[in-house]
Amino acid sequence: MKTYAAKTISAEELAEIRCNRCGRPIEKNDFGIFDEHLSIEKIWGYHSPADGETHKLDICSDCYFGWIEEFEIPPINTKL
Ligand SMILES: [Zn+2]
Repeated sequence: MKTYAAKTISAEELAEIRCNRCGRPIEKNDFGIFDEHLSIEKIWGYHSPADGETHKLDICSDCYFGWIEEFEIPPINTKL
């Protein structure tokens, strides 16, 4: 026979995402899912301007679409 005791487990929960560009929070929808945004994690390698650094950032959709307007070559857009 097995007897189980209650055990409290602690876990981290993603509570907030803020846009690195404008500082506004990324809102959650009615299902508790964060609105669409861009997340980037870049590990810079040898001989780069940030050798050995890891940069992580989140960009809200408003900032993203404003940002890509500045691109000389737009991102490739493949619609599902
Ligand atoms: Zn933003």
